[in-house]
Amino acid sequence: MKLNNELGLDALVEKYSDVPKSVILKLDLQRRGIAFTDATTEETYTPYYRGPAQTAFSGGTKLERPFPGPLLLRDGTSVLASPVKNQFSDPYTIDFVDGKFYVTDKGKRLDEVDFTPRPDFYGKVTSRGVPMESIAWSRPQRLDIIPYRYCHYWDTKDQCKFCAFFTDLKQQKQAAGDNYEKIIHPEDIYETVQEALKEPGRYSQINLTAGTDYSGEVPFDKEVTRYIEVLQAIGRNFRTRRFPSQLIAPAYTKQQVKRLHDETGLSSYCPDIEVWDKELFKWICSGKEKWFGRDYWIKSALDAVEIFGKGNVYTNFVAGVEFAKPQSFTSIEQALDSNFEACEYFAKNGVVYLSLVWTPWKSTALAGQEQPPLEYYVRLIKGLVEIRKHYGLASDNDDFKHCGNHGDSDLERLN
Ligand code: SF4
Repeated sequence: MKLNNELGLDALVEKYSDVPKSVILKLDLQRRGIAFTDATTEETYTPYYRGPAQTAFSGGTKLERPFPGPLLLRDGTSVLASPVKNQFSDPYTIDFVDGKFYVTDKGKRLDEVDFTPRPDFYGKVTSRGVPMESIAWSRPQRLDIIPYRYCHYWDTKDQCKFCAFFTDLKQQKQAAGDNYEKIIHPEDIYETVQEALKEPGRYSQINLTAGTDYSGEVPFDKEVTRYIEVLQAIGRNFRTRRFPSQLIAPAYTKQQVKRLHDETGLSSYCPDIEVWDKELFKWICSGKEKWFGRDYWIKSALDAVEIFGKGNVYTNFVAGVEFAKPQSFTSIEQALDSNFEACEYFAKNGVVYLSLVWTPWKSTALAGQEQPPLEYYVRLIKGLVEIRKHYGLASDNDDFKHCGNHGDSDLERLN
């Protein structure tokens, strides 16, 4: 089946007049990727925009220049798209002309855009001498922290097949050998958050995620204890018991989730299911299948609602990976049905099922595979938003301010 017999951006904006152009554009910027002109690369290296020297994610490519923070559309929609060279066959271009950035497609100027400004804490160091821009990274209004920089699914070649996370850090690990520091010290995290919060009005959420470490007397115990130490350190910066935060982590037992809730100020938990279909889950997420399978991941999310409350438990899926060959779905309807079934199942149990756009990065097992057409993503986010609305759920912890990586939570603003 040829999936890419598709309508383009303009045709879809006309066909789906109830979906803002910025949301459709964002989906396509993430789907097709972006490229910078030389002028854009130079301008985003200036002190106002300059990104961190190191990130956990660059599609497995060594960066010549740090990427700036996420792209910003004129309505405040943020777009997580990295201008990694030689990754995309048909990217949009971000150009810089007469003091302004523009998104262009095949020479046609589409709109003015901007980038997230460099936060004040970049360039500073902790009392232990660690650069703060290696501890936390900034989205427009969110701090991202990765306290453990390795995923042990890779040890047995059981990494998720779409995953390009840590691929550059993995190279650093190989280069540094025994000196590679996987664990970020909680005191460095405490001081970095303290410094970041000095920037008035900048942050409304702190997000934690990391590679998976299933070690411990009860599997994942070590990782849970590490997150508790980190969250307690971050919590010392707040006067309130809970602070706006999300942990994207593996599925844990109810006891482990309860420890995270009771011993820290964490406000939201997100074990990612990645792909709903049973057979695709086994194939695409073989690490998650081994530790301890799809039913365990689903149960963990549902159990967590009893602890964090309805609407404070999330699970992300990688939209489009359902079409990865050779085991893929063969029609758009089949993929939509599967994801709407998942969204309904989670929503009626109080869990928010959120989409991310799949990029077949060259460093992944699915490199170069064909993505579904843009219309699939537009229909998908419309359906997801309708289902969640029906069950009285809103993606408050993952909306355009807190995350900005989900077309469906962007669309939800209209509710
Ligand atoms: S759990 Fe999967 S997606 Fe997350 S870092 Fe490990 S391999 Fe990548």
